[in-house]
Amino acid sequence: MSHPLSTDVLIVGGGIAGLWLNARLRRQGFATLLVENATLGGGQSLASQGIIHGGAKYALHGALSGASEAIADMPRRWRDALGGDGELNLSGVRLLSDAHYLWSPGTLAGNLTSFFASKAVRSRVDPVKGADLPAALQHPKFKGKVYRLDELVLDVPSLIARLVELAGDSLLAAERLEPLHEQGELVGLRIDGRAVQAQRIVLSAGAGNAALLSELGLSQPAMQRRPLHMVLVKGPGLKPLYAHCLGGGPKPRVTVTSHPAADGQWVWYLGGDLAEAAGVARDAAAQIRAAQQELADLLPWIDLSTAQWATLRVDRAEPAQSGLVRPDNAFLSEQQRLLVGWPTKLALAPDFADRVLAALARDGVQPGSHPTPLDGPRPALGQPVWETLLP
Ligand code: FAD
Repeated sequence: MSHPLSTDVLIVGGGIAGLWLNARLRRQGFATLLVENATLGGGQSLASQGIIHGGAKYALHGALSGASEAIADMPRRWRDALGGDGELNLSGVRLLSDAHYLWSPGTLAGNLTSFFASKAVRSRVDPVKGADLPAALQHPKFKGKVYRLDELVLDVPSLIARLVELAGDSLLAAERLEPLHEQGELVGLRIDGRAVQAQRIVLSAGAGNAALLSELGLSQPAMQRRPLHMVLVKGPGLKPLYAHCLGGGPKPRVTVTSHPAADGQWVWYLGGDLAEAAGVARDAAAQIRAAQQELADLLPWIDLSTAQWATLRVDRAEPAQSGLVRPDNAFLSEQQRLLVGWPTKLALAPDFADRVLAALARDGVQPGSHPTPLDGPRPALGQPVWETLLP
């Protein structure tokens, strides 16, 4: 039998959680190996809207209780990283918008009162008017109120590409993973038949965590999927818009982000309430009609007569909701050498990595292995969803 390879931390899953963690660990001198069974970022991460939330959205229904919440610090941590002097050097990652906007189309006084009652956001929200409005809202027919939130919107494809650069030679494409036990304890994984031992094994495989846990014979932590039915529209009449449009309920009626397509046009990516339960129940044609109606109601001056439309069904993977999880924290569960979690948001990838690093520090796990020589195939980069769906 060949001698097992070893690494300090073996990471399963190359979405934002695994790639961010991998880059942080390598920066601290840990030997790492990250295995991916499909494409890098091609799960939820490249399907996300790229908003780096600071928690403002949660203040709408009172879930953000104070400045101590991890999410409140995320815009600053990401800004530092984008500037090249944060916990990771993300210089070169494209910032799509330096702010996300909150837009109230009518008289939603109730919503806005509770929103501004939250101390956590009061100091970080500025009303905007006239020439300061987002370009798509600058029209004589526009009515409503707009607030600038201290939140960023990132070009996720360039973020994933940068994290892949920071991963150096630590990435490995792998189809089959099996547990590697020694005296009844999980000590690593057999990767396409090759035994790899590790001081810690981290499952950051998004929706894939559930199947991995069941292969390891574990039923905890339980995972839930939250289905979404997103809408994409590409057309010459679109100008960039990054905004939550408020409706009457606790969730934004529609959340719009804008993404540059390879052909030079803008793609609007529509989420929020439109993409949740009622949207999930519609078929693609009905969901497109619902989105067309929303945009015609909200932004009647935008010409979408020649636009291309598509929808995307995608699940958010999260820990099964319990008292343990709040929307403003990443989740990590530990069982001996095994750590399993979900960032719950792209924005919270730094919080997910903090939790893993804290667990390593608490257990005295130090960089110790010689980097594993890799002779396997590298996983491919995932494609932006708008290029696949609206070529
Ligand atoms: P993923 O990105 O899903 O990555 C998991 C990886 O593991 C995948 O590459 C997968 O192929 C791999 N994998 C799975 N099984 C295995 C296996 N057995 N072996 C090896 N590899 C495996 N969050 C925000 O903060 N802001 C937003 O604007 C935002 N918008 C969103 C919009 C949508 C439509 C969705 C769906 C989510 C959005 N989110 C947003 C949430 C965010 O995208 C996710 O929380 C985050 O991307 C999860 O990252 P992850 O690395 O855990 O999972």
